Amino acid sequence: MDTNLTNCFSCGAMVPNMDGPTHRYMLSSPGCWSVYGVLLARDYGEYNYPTVYRLSVDAYTVQHPGRPNRQAIQSVAVHLIALYYLLEKGLPEAQVIRTRSRAAQFSDQFFWLEPPTSMGPITIVNAADAEGLEEYQRVAREWAKSAWEAWRAHHDQIRKWAAL
Ligand SMILES: [Zn+2]
Repeated sequence: MDTNLTNCFSCGAMVPNMDGPTHRYMLSSPGCWSVYGVLLARDYGEYNYPTVYRLSVDAYTVQHPGRPNRQAIQSVAVHLIALYYLLEKGLPEAQVIRTRSRAAQFSDQFFWLEPPTSMGPITIVNAADAEGLEEYQRVAREWAKSAWEAWRAHHDQIRKWAAL
C-alpha cells in the first residue's frame, strides 16, 4: 500500500495523505477535498461545465455530511432530495435544478439524518480518474447511485421531504 495515501474519514476514498484546507461544513480529509478541487477545475475547464457536474456535487456532498448543524443538515437534505428526483423519479437535470432551490425553502423542517457507516463503493477518486467526458459522465452516474444507496435507511424520510 502506498503510504502517501490514506482513507478519507468520511467517504472512505483512498486520497493523498496531506495537510490542507477543507470545506467549512462538508467535512472531509484534506486529501479528499484536494482531489475534489482538481475535479471541479476539470468540470469548469476541460469538461466545460457539463450537466453531470451537478450529479457529482450531489454525490460528493452526501458522502461528506459533516456534523449536525443547520448548514450541514440543509445541505445534505437538499442534495439527497436531488438524488431522489434524479435517480428514483428519473427527472431530467434541468428540472432537478429547480427542486434544489425549492427544497431549500423548507429547510426548517429538515433534521439531522444519522449518516451511514459506509458511504458506498464509488467515490470522488473514481470520478477524478475518469479519462474524458464520456467516461466521467458514466462514472458520475454510478457514483451518484452508490451514494444514494448508501443512505438507504433514510430513503423514506427523504421521499417525505421531497413531497413538501
Ligand atoms: Zn471524502
